[in-house]
Amino acid sequence: MTQSAPSLDVKGYAVMAPGQPLVPFTFERRRPRPEDVVVDILFCGVCHSDIHTARGEWGESEYPVVPGHEIVGRVSQKGASAGRFNVGDLVGVGCYVDSCRVCPSCRSGLEPYCDDGPLWTYNATDPQGHRTFGGYSSRIVVDEKYVLKIPQGMDPAQAAPLLCAGITTWSPLKHWGVKPGMSVGVAGLGGLGHMAVKLIAALGARPVVISRSGKKKSDALSLGAVEYYEEATLPAHKKSLDLILDTVSAPHDVDRLLGTLKREGTLVMLGVSPESLSFDAFSLIGGRRSLAGSLIGGLREIQDMLDFCGRQGVHPEVEVIPVAHVNAAYDRVVSGDVKFRFVLDMATL
Ligand code: NAP
Ligand code: ZN
Ligand code: ZN
Repeated sequence: MTQSAPSLDVKGYAVMAPGQPLVPFTFERRRPRPEDVVVDILFCGVCHSDIHTARGEWGESEYPVVPGHEIVGRVSQKGASAGRFNVGDLVGVGCYVDSCRVCPSCRSGLEPYCDDGPLWTYNATDPQGHRTFGGYSSRIVVDEKYVLKIPQGMDPAQAAPLLCAGITTWSPLKHWGVKPGMSVGVAGLGGLGHMAVKLIAALGARPVVISRSGKKKSDALSLGAVEYYEEATLPAHKKSLDLILDTVSAPHDVDRLLGTLKREGTLVMLGVSPESLSFDAFSLIGGRRSLAGSLIGGLREIQDMLDFCGRQGVHPEVEVIPVAHVNAAYDRVVSGDVKFRFVLDMATL
């Protein structure tokens, strides 16, 4: 493939303006470069971040937005110097498609923390001035360095949510050294939360689900949770957890969560509420506790997580739907009516 290769026509779904539904949208991808692969997309997960961005809830969207960063597909073309994959390989693309490659974070394999910010898979502009469009589409062109290998035997629809929900929960579990014997809270049992439960259990630790109501208790236990705390009962569970992954997508009571941590426990924010959260300093100092955050995970970590899931048979619970049902799916995610991740079937585009 050369620089004179034609740009690629792509079909997808986009939001054209804030508050609008997703509609069919045709656009062009950049001409594949020598180090690029073209991926024909099979499945794309629906992450709550897609909804926050599509609806302008984080304030920074530039329309049209083609969301989607839990992408699985097959390599259909590769550039002259692309050597990591063969045509036909099953691959994944996650939340970012490039980064500066030279800053301390990039050199440490922690690309999401790139000093220049990673190049997000959608709703971003690359250094050449091209807008990025995500995985609710037929094809994507990506530098092969930012493409992940899907382990053999993994179901492609079930693999898709690992590219965001899987890695976003795996990375803090590894960073905070989760191991057998530790009790790890998971606040919010949605796409991220249910993956967290499965990964904590697979690492031999004790997953404890913290949810708004009693409605998800039997699901939580069948996913592997050993305990289930209804949010209102948290004061009765003081100092019981070593670590909490907070995946809640809306404003909520941070002090109550901090109170359930043992001395020196850590609350890791993963969810990004559209409105600011607040907490009382006493909630930290009374237990020498930490409040932290974590962003997706680096490329090496993503591959490790995919390989771990492949070996251990860990997979998300998915509901595969036609792309045309995506607007209804957004409403169902917001109302908590999904078990536990929608995945769009691109064959229906
Ligand atoms: P999701 O499937 O919608 O799950 C979010 C969960 O939060 C819900 O299942 C619900 O759990 C709880 N929740 C929702 N509304 C609530 C409310 N008003 N009050 C209290 N709890 C509420 O979303 P997701 O895809 O897992 O994403 C979760 C959050 O993580 C989003 O904000 C997303 O943008 C963010 N995210 C961050 C990263 C990162 O790198 N840090 C990566 C991906 C996503 P219960 O019903 O059990 O209470
Ligand atoms: Zn996501
Ligand atoms: Zn960098």
